[in-house]
Amino acid sequence: MYDTNFLISRLSAASEGRGDDPFAQLPGGRHVTFGDLFAGAERIANALVSSGVAPGDRVAVQVAKTIEAIELYLGTVMAGAVFLPLNPAYTTRELSYFLGDATPALVVCDPARQTEITEIAGAMPVLTLSADGQGSLRELADGQPGFEAVARGPNDLAAILYTSGTTGRSKGAMLSHNNLASNSIALRDYWHFTADDTLIHALPIFHTHGLFVATNVALLAGAQVVFLPGFDVDAILNAMPKSTAMMGVPTFYTRLLADDRLTVERAANMRLFISGSAPLLVDTHEAWEARTTHRILERYGMTETNMNTSNPYDGDRRAGTVGLPLPGVETRVMDGGEVAQGGIGVLHVRGDNVFQGYWQMPEKTAEELLPDGWFITGDLAQIDKDGYISIVGRQKDLIITGGFNVYPKEIEALIDDLPGVLESAVIGVAHPDFGEAVVAIVVPDGSGLDIEAIRVVLNGQLANFKRPKRMIMVDALIRNTMGKVQKKALREEYEDLFTG
Ligand code: AMP
Repeated sequence: MYDTNFLISRLSAASEGRGDDPFAQLPGGRHVTFGDLFAGAERIANALVSSGVAPGDRVAVQVAKTIEAIELYLGTVMAGAVFLPLNPAYTTRELSYFLGDATPALVVCDPARQTEITEIAGAMPVLTLSADGQGSLRELADGQPGFEAVARGPNDLAAILYTSGTTGRSKGAMLSHNNLASNSIALRDYWHFTADDTLIHALPIFHTHGLFVATNVALLAGAQVVFLPGFDVDAILNAMPKSTAMMGVPTFYTRLLADDRLTVERAANMRLFISGSAPLLVDTHEAWEARTTHRILERYGMTETNMNTSNPYDGDRRAGTVGLPLPGVETRVMDGGEVAQGGIGVLHVRGDNVFQGYWQMPEKTAEELLPDGWFITGDLAQIDKDGYISIVGRQKDLIITGGFNVYPKEIEALIDDLPGVLESAVIGVAHPDFGEAVVAIVVPDGSGLDIEAIRVVLNGQLANFKRPKRMIMVDALIRNTMGKVQKKALREEYEDLFTG
C-alpha cells in the first residue's frame, strides 16, 4: 500500500507484520501500536485529501506535541503533500509571515488559537488539533477508510522547515523524501538502533532533531519511543530504567545532572545518550560520564542538511568534537581554498542529506548551495589529524539558546522601531542552563526610554525563546573605526552576566 511512496515505504518497513507491537508509550500508560499509528496516518491522509490537499501542497501545522501530530506528519507525506511544522511558541505576527511565504493549502492549529489564525489565514482552510489529540482534524479523520499512499519519488518534497533568517526573514528549507530517508537510515545504522530499543523522545517535533532524527530513526528501526510532550526531568528519570537510548540538546543533560536521582543504577539499562543542536560543553560530557559511566555521543547537523557528523558508536567519543562525517556525507573546511589539516575555516558539506534549496528564494539558495552540491554551513570548523571535526564558532550571527536558534537581527529590528530607542545590539551570552541566553543592549535616544515597555512589546511579538533574558541600557555601543558594532567585544564585556 505504501510501496510507491519513497519515504513512507521506508519508514513503515521495519514494523511490517508487527502491527500489534507497541510504538509509543504515552503519559498515563496509553500505548499506540505501529498498526494504530499508520492507520491513524491513513485516516488523516484521507481527511487532508477531502479538505482539498493535493500532492505538492504544503500543510502548515502549529500544534502541541502529540502522537496525532506524528500521524499528521505521516499522513501528509502519504498524501504526497509537504509537511510544514511550526513552533507552537510563534506569535500570530510570526505566523502570518510563514503562511504568506509558504501559501499552504491547509493550516492545522491548536483550537485555542483558531480564531486569530483563521483571521490571518485568509482563504486557507483551518483545522484544529488539541494537546489531547482532539479537534476538527480528528473529527474529520474519524471513520475514514484506509489510504493508498500517493506515489512520490526520492526527489519530491516531503517537508519544509523554516530556519531563522539572518536578515530577519526566515527561510524555508526544502527537504526531499530521499534527504530524510537517506539520513535517517545512516543514523539508524551508525547508532545501532534496532527493534530492541526504547528511545526517550522528549524533543519538540517541529524541529529536525525531534521530528527527523528521533522519530524517523525510531520508525526505521521498528523501535519503541517513550513519547513525552516535552522535556520533564521527572518523566525522563522515570523512563530511564526501562529505556535504552535518549536524544537531547545540551540543556537536557545539564538539567538532568542537576538532579541527584541521576545515578549509575538509574542509567544502567541505557546504551546510548546522544546530544546535538548546540555545543555540548566538555564539562557536561565529563560530569555525565562521572555520574552515569556513559560517554555522551555528540553529533552535528542543521535544518538544511539533516545530520552531517557524529562521534563513533564503537570508537572514541571525543568531548568537544562532533566526530566524523557520517557515511554518505562529505565535508571540507574552506577559507578561500581548502584549509590544511588543523586550520580553521567554514565547513561545507555534501551528500544525499543536503536539502533542495530555500523555498522561493533562488538567490539565497545560490549563495549557500553551490552548483556542485556543496552546502556552505556558516559554521567554523577545524579537523584534527584523526579526522574528528570541532565546531569552533559561527560565521553567522546566530544565538542558540536551549537548542533553539535565534537571529539577533529580527529582535534588533523590533527594538529599534520602538519609541525612545536610538539603536540596539542583541547578543548571546553564556548561560549555565540554556547554553546561551539572549541579551539586548539598548541605547536610548534621550526622549525617555522605558525598558519595561520594551519588554511588554517584545512579549507580544516574539516567541518566548527569542525574548531577551536581560535588557541592558547603555550610552553607546562598542564600534570599530569603520563604525561597525563590535558584537565580539560586547559578548566579552557581558560574558559573566549569568555565570559570574
Ligand atoms: P538548526 O538548523 O536549528 O538545527 O541549527 C543548526 C546549527 O546548530 C548549526 O549550524 C550549528 O551552528 C549548531 N549545532 C548543531 N549541532 C551542534 C553541535 N553538536 N555543536 C555545535 N553546534 C551545533
